[in-house]
Amino acid sequence: MDSWNEKCAIVGVFNSNRSAALCYYSLFAMQHRGQESSGISTSNGYDITTLKGEGLVTSVFKYGLEKLVGDASIGHNRYSTAGEDSKCDVQPIFARYSLGQIALAHNGNLVNAEEVRDRLISQGAIFQSHLDTENLIHLIAQSKATKLRDRIIESLSCIKGAYSFVFLSRGKLFAIRDPYGFRPLSLGEINNEDGSKAYIVASETCAFDLINARYIRDINPGEMLIFSHENGVCSYESIQVFKAEPKKCIFEFIYFARPDSFVFNKCVYEIRKNMGIELAKEYKIKADLVIPVPDSGVISAIGYSQESGIPFEFGIVRNHYIGRTFIEPTQSSRELKVRLKLNPIKELIKDKDIIVIDDSIVRGTTSKQIIRILRKAGAKKIHLIIASPQTISPCYYGVDTPDISHLISATKSIEEVRDFINADSLHFLSLDGLYRSIGDEAKDGEGYCKACFDKQYII
Ligand code: SF4
Repeated sequence: MDSWNEKCAIVGVFNSNRSAALCYYSLFAMQHRGQESSGISTSNGYDITTLKGEGLVTSVFKYGLEKLVGDASIGHNRYSTAGEDSKCDVQPIFARYSLGQIALAHNGNLVNAEEVRDRLISQGAIFQSHLDTENLIHLIAQSKATKLRDRIIESLSCIKGAYSFVFLSRGKLFAIRDPYGFRPLSLGEINNEDGSKAYIVASETCAFDLINARYIRDINPGEMLIFSHENGVCSYESIQVFKAEPKKCIFEFIYFARPDSFVFNKCVYEIRKNMGIELAKEYKIKADLVIPVPDSGVISAIGYSQESGIPFEFGIVRNHYIGRTFIEPTQSSRELKVRLKLNPIKELIKDKDIIVIDDSIVRGTTSKQIIRILRKAGAKKIHLIIASPQTISPCYYGVDTPDISHLISATKSIEEVRDFINADSLHFLSLDGLYRSIGDEAKDGEGYCKACFDKQYII
């Protein structure tokens, strides 16, 4: 792995007779947040039906979507980590318990999951998956509270970590963000054909655009929304379950979120472009061209080019169709792996001094190969500029990251990394430059988690 991967996307739709189809389109829009598996659970008021499987959204729901009939649905895209038995870890999770039926989908990571699981197992619980999310189902089933809302709140008080959850019962939909608001979750509304309103919650607002939903607001850290048909009217109730200083994941702006999304109520495209502008102010380098590593470096490269006046060119072309291509397990095949995906345009690059912009460096192996193929293409000087600070520590809050020993910036100085990747110069965006790119609200990084850059872990 030479990139960081968001583990999941979640969606919930309430009060639409197209709820499953709207979930499907939303999951399709959020495919970038998880490609391993996908699932949708739908309630018709009496029963919850689930359709899920491994693969991309289009293949999982190629057949059978018409069986998901009901006006409330939740959905999930999963990015799974290596070595896990993916089949039993596909979400949503469904269970029958003393109050009826429940389905649940989760984006994030629970840091005390093992401790809670061990306790539940010692009390007789039987687990079917490796998912930390399954703890919630057992905690809810064991609670003595008479309302599901109270059972959820009681269960959440036993867990620690990063989470955005959607719960589906036969008659209600619940959406909740953890007290720190690590992972994003937004609320939108849709006009039904009969004039009534449907509601949607989703990890990213790019899901709203595809189904003509209007963004209302973000769900607040520690807030629970409950959607119901009380007295025949669809409405939602807000409960502030927890209060804490927000710590939103700053990496959403750098890499995870789609640039056409609003995340944490901010336009991702604008922030990425600002990062390029800040980089141009921090590093004034003489060069012939600014070239992005596609797609991750494109928007920051536009910002850098506009601020510096150095022409922008797509000097590297990306092949979007590589999928799980067979790679021979030899040293020399590493270059092939990068070449399968990225190919430089020699005529543009030959004899030029170039500035190459990428979003981050994880192990350094991909950057090294990119620089190698650019040198082979005839580049005279290569300055690599990274639109984020150095990633020096792993994430424990719902992002799949390598062990610290594999993070190149955790053990090497900038000069040592430059030497390893064989660039003529290497520069990273400063943390202050990142805050300035986000705007006044992020002054001094307040309100954001940035532990992968400064090791200041909150929980
Ligand atoms: S450690 Fe990094 S990736 Fe993880 S939540 Fe914090 S900012 Fe995001």
